[in-house]
Amino acid sequence: MARNDYARRPGGGQGLRDQRPRNCRFCNAVVQGHDDVCDPCRQGAQRGREHLNGPSYPTLLNAEGKLCADSLDAWANDLALAFAQGSPALTKSQLRGFYGHVKRLESSLGRNRPFEDVVCELTRLKPLVHARFERKKIPREFKTFIERNVAASVASKEEFGAFVRHFEAVAAFCEGRIKDEGKGRD
Ligand SMILES: [Zn+2]
Repeated sequence: MARNDYARRPGGGQGLRDQRPRNCRFCNAVVQGHDDVCDPCRQGAQRGREHLNGPSYPTLLNAEGKLCADSLDAWANDLALAFAQGSPALTKSQLRGFYGHVKRLESSLGRNRPFEDVVCELTRLKPLVHARFERKKIPREFKTFIERNVAASVASKEEFGAFVRHFEAVAAFCEGRIKDEGKGRD
C-alpha cells in the first residue's frame, strides 16, 4: 500500500520529507523547499544592499534640512534585513559596540564637547570596521553602512544627528532578526 505510493514519487520517500513546509526565520511566513527565508524578506535585504551602494545613500536630510521619513522606516527595515542575511550575519554584540559608540558621542556633544572631537572619534570607526570585516566579524553591508554614514556625518552636527536617528531605527529593526555571537568569541 504505502510502499507503492512512495515508489511512484520521483525520489521516493526522501521527497516527502523535503516537501515539508518551513517557516521564514525573520517573519515566520511559510516557505516551500529548503529555504528558511521568504521571498519578501530576501527582497528586502536586496533592496537594502542596493540602497547602501546607491549614489543617493546616505541622503538622510531633505532640502529643508528635515530628516527623511524613509530613513527611519523602509530603508532602515531593509538595511536590518540585509545585515541579518549578510555573510557573516551581523551579531548583537557587534551592533551594540558600534551603536553604543555613536550614542555616547551624541551625548558628549550634548555636554558641549567640540564637534571636531566628535569628528575624530567618528572617523576612528572606519579603520575599526575595516579590521572587523577582515576578521569576518561583520558583513560587508554593515561595513558599508558605517563607512558611508561616517563620511556624511563629519560634515555637520545636523548630518551627524540624522545618522544617529537613522542608526536608532536600523538597530530597532534588527531586534528579533540578529542573534548573539556563539561560544563567547569576539
Ligand atoms: Zn520572511
